Amino acid sequence: MSAIQTTATPRHRVVVVGGGLNVVRALEHADAEVTVVDRTNHHLFQPLLYQVAAGILPPGLIAPALRSVIKKQANARALLADVHDFDLDRRVVHAEGPDGQPLELPYDSLVVAAGATHSYFGRDEFAEYAPGMKTSEDARHLRDQILLAFEMAELSTDSAERAEWLTFVVIGAGPTGVELVGQVAELAHSVLPRDYRSIDTREARILLLEGAPSVLPPFAPKLQAYTHRRLEKMGVEIRTGTLAIGMDDRSVTVKGPDGEETIRTRTRIWAAGVAASPLATLLARSSGADTDRAGRIAVNPDCSLPGHAEVFAVGDMVSLNKLPGIAQPAMQEGKYVGKLIKARLSGDQNVEPFTYFDKGSMATIGYKSAVADAFGMKVTGFLAYVMWGFIHVLYLIGWGNRLGTLYTWLRALVFTKNRGHRIITFEQANDQAQGHRLNAGRPAAGDAGVRPVQTPVQPSAQPVSERAG
Ligand SMILES: Cc1cc2nc3c(=O)[nH]c(=O)nc-3n(C[C@H](O)[C@H](O)[C@H](O)COP(=O)(O)OP(=O)(O)OC[C@H]3O[C@@H](n4cnc5c(N)ncnc54)[C@H](O)[C@@H]3O)c2cc1C
Repeated sequence: MSAIQTTATPRHRVVVVGGGLNVVRALEHADAEVTVVDRTNHHLFQPLLYQVAAGILPPGLIAPALRSVIKKQANARALLADVHDFDLDRRVVHAEGPDGQPLELPYDSLVVAAGATHSYFGRDEFAEYAPGMKTSEDARHLRDQILLAFEMAELSTDSAERAEWLTFVVIGAGPTGVELVGQVAELAHSVLPRDYRSIDTREARILLLEGAPSVLPPFAPKLQAYTHRRLEKMGVEIRTGTLAIGMDDRSVTVKGPDGEETIRTRTRIWAAGVAASPLATLLARSSGADTDRAGRIAVNPDCSLPGHAEVFAVGDMVSLNKLPGIAQPAMQEGKYVGKLIKARLSGDQNVEPFTYFDKGSMATIGYKSAVADAFGMKVTGFLAYVMWGFIHVLYLIGWGNRLGTLYTWLRALVFTKNRGHRIITFEQANDQAQGHRLNAGRPAAGDAGVRPVQTPVQPSAQPVSERAG
């Protein structure tokens, strides 16, 4: 095991686990050394993941290397490692490097922002048949699945099988489900029809299932109604008040107002539930904090843990003032905690509790249509689409990525009406094709996880005793 030591001078050591970029930035001029440890090497902007799944954007534009993002901040560094435990008494984070090497990261202040994962509401077996989308690998996997379904339909000579390949079911009509189903509809109806010879992609059946009585459950009724109408116009079959109660690799069984029905489909996408990172439960156990039904840890009003004023949790993994699991609370909490640590370092121990400024919410439906609820206004259609585009480009990291995204949007959506990143990587798509092995010899599902670099960066690593537990 190695302890990652920092520098010879004993500056205040802040360890940030996961997505706490705002914590790091707020500490730029603090007398501290900041170590960000993440199990991916990039900082992902999740709101545009669906555009990777749809072949519009390449992953790199929304997921710059974490190391490059913080390179100008002299007191910060990044480590690629998977955190699996905390010793709050000894003030040590236990992690594992990409080669499996155990690491210990000592801290004076700890901030955990490990986000959330999918929840299948106790039906974990659904994960095999209905992948969700949280990471860039997930988005590329979905892109594989969606594009491969059209390819398989083109190859199929059996009409029933072809119909299965051309049926897409998105489960969950929150913003992610709406955005994904809108993209599948645009692919089928606008982008792909002229590319295929045996199939008419416009015959694709595209379903959106939602357990609540309306799409976009947290949004205002006016925005829900607009979204419903727009999606139907785009050819999406919407089933509200409907739950997925069973599935296998060729079907999904649903239960709705009209009873139970089994829908034959090869492509199911899960956009229905989230659960906090398992690190929230670990922290709760160590600190005695509560967790809610989604596994989110209840933090103090200043985002610290009970009995541990030096340990903070922020973002999707925390429950604080009933804030939703979206980007704004995560960013604002991160910034707040960074400033709090800085204030403490300069002797100010009386920092006000965290307060949230609600900037509103928005979702895209398809080309030129979106809904936005911001500053007391409920906006729909093209204006909302422009607002959405402007804000999302603004939140990307770096001008290169912003300009690259703008250029790619103009090219894909306005000029060519094509999707420039329609690559099937065959990384995980093999299983979906089942008997139709198009690429024997390539890695099969499960072999395809992104392999991080082989040699972890370990400045001044020193051996310590074996990992406890
Ligand atoms: C598809 C999708 C679309 C979304 N769209 C919107 C939107 O339009 N608007 C909006 O406001 N919000 C949106 N959100 C939500 C928003 O992205 C999140 O609320 C926000 O990213 C939460 O930030 P976070 O720092 O808590 O977690 P994350 O941004 O998820 O970051 C968590 C980080 O922790 C790392 N990590 C996790 N576990 C470990 C571990 N054990 N060891 C080391 N590192 C670890 C991960 O690799 C990741 O980098 C969307 C989310 C998704 C998934």
